[in-house]
Amino acid sequence: MPVDLDRLDTVLAELGEPAFRAKQVWQWCARGAASYDEMTDLPGALRARLAQDVPLSTLELEREAHARDGTIKALFRTHDGRAIEAVLMRYKDGRRSLCLSSQSGCPLTCTFCATGQMKFGRNLTAWEIVDQALHFRRTERVDHAVFMGMGEPMMNLDNVLAACRRLPEIGITHRRTAISTVGWVPGIDRLAETDMPIRLALSLHAADDALRSEIMPVNDRYPLHDVLEACRRFYARKRRLVFVEYVMLAGVNDRYEQALALTRVLDPKIFKVNLIPYNPTGMYDGSSREAIAAFRAVLEEHGLRATVRLTRGRDIDAACGQLAAKAAA
Ligand code: SAH
Repeated sequence: MPVDLDRLDTVLAELGEPAFRAKQVWQWCARGAASYDEMTDLPGALRARLAQDVPLSTLELEREAHARDGTIKALFRTHDGRAIEAVLMRYKDGRRSLCLSSQSGCPLTCTFCATGQMKFGRNLTAWEIVDQALHFRRTERVDHAVFMGMGEPMMNLDNVLAACRRLPEIGITHRRTAISTVGWVPGIDRLAETDMPIRLALSLHAADDALRSEIMPVNDRYPLHDVLEACRRFYARKRRLVFVEYVMLAGVNDRYEQALALTRVLDPKIFKVNLIPYNPTGMYDGSSREAIAAFRAVLEEHGLRATVRLTRGRDIDAACGQLAAKAAA
């Protein structure tokens, strides 16, 4: 489930069952139950009936790929045949982080991102988002989530936030949840207004409008200045650092002057930079390790904190920007 909890409510009402049954079912799901059989505080007849009438997930698992580094990528189908992917990343310190999708495909067309090349399907429902998390929760405890899978979460913010409300019961607090955006200004403002202390991550990738518009056409709609202003408002309201994602493309955005330009537009009190090694999608060459290290050094010399993202799951096309549901194409 949570099933579509609405459907569950209807069936329970038809059977004349008390309303608290729905809550029991959800609590079992949130703790990783894989079937109604496990829900031992529900009457046996009811369990059998629900197993028949209310599917335990809104998603069907089509395929799961396991990377050498422990990363797992799941490919799901929605009831109407849309493909979506989600990823579980395991880290040595014990952290278990989920990368969740908010849309099937993506309507934006960032040139370096494989999802952007795939046909846009539709927004996912809140339950389709929660079910991605529950899928992994059935095999192990999970504690972090990032909306860095397919899609632009700010274009489906109602459903993304509704899903976020459920995540703490699955083990993922709001503080350990991050929403990543291309810089969808109204979404950033709305996130700043919610009561949930969710982290904001901004996919920046260029510090000047000309280059940013070239590689991220959405920049024509929400240009750099407006996006950074929205992030400042977010910080003023939430007092939480905004993480800037910057994918390193050789000869495109990795030059010395471009690092300097970044230090000029980003206030170190508000922003922290995460440099992302480019994962091949066929369009660009990634910057070398040395180029990334040099770029990072320039940022740090100017007082801007910067880290290099650990690449996970590249051998199964599960890394950033590689989710394109290839198996399903
Ligand atoms: N639409 C949102 C959520 C997707 S997050 C956003 O853009 O922020 C996926 C992250 O991976 C983004 O920062 C995106 O820019 C980055 N990315 C896309 N393609 C990539 C690639 N080929 N290699 C590395 N990172 C990539």
